[in-house]
Amino acid sequence: MILNDKEFGEVIVRKSPLSRGARFSVSTSGRLAMSVPKHTSDFFVKRILDLNRKMIREKLPLKNPKEQRARDYQKKILMKKAREYLPYRLEYFAKLYGYEYNKCRLTHANTRWGSCSSNKTISLNIGLMKVPEVLRDYVILHELAHLNHMNHSRDFWREVGTHDKNYRLHEKKIKHFNPGL
Ligand SMILES: [Zn+2]
Repeated sequence: MILNDKEFGEVIVRKSPLSRGARFSVSTSGRLAMSVPKHTSDFFVKRILDLNRKMIREKLPLKNPKEQRARDYQKKILMKKAREYLPYRLEYFAKLYGYEYNKCRLTHANTRWGSCSSNKTISLNIGLMKVPEVLRDYVILHELAHLNHMNHSRDFWREVGTHDKNYRLHEKKIKHFNPGL
């Protein structure tokens, strides 16, 4: 679970049957991570955090919590924008070109703009709200084409090309942007 802490921003809390006591570490994103025994209540998790604040401040190389909080805030805004836009844009193109998908999932993975699973769930990265519209549309059309071709075969690209004739340029251009926050 993620705990929203006033000082440290998002804290990643893992409840594990293997933990005996509370342990603190730094996640790959620079956030505070803590692992506690499995049945620790949320109330007690917060209490443990409070008791260890000073030690965490002094000993753990966390990314600047202020920047971290700014990033958390940015993510929240982006998620809100994405929720009000991406599912509708996807639906629009699906209707326009006759695609059927199961559902649209919004993600904030650091490495990919979108994906399409074999159960026809299309995932779109909320970071798409930061790129030019033409590239955003390209990613959506790319994922829709995966509904018919679960690969990057010649047939796949031909299908992308029928909806976006500049797809080669767009594929190149989107590499200049970073999907992470
Ligand atoms: Zn692809």
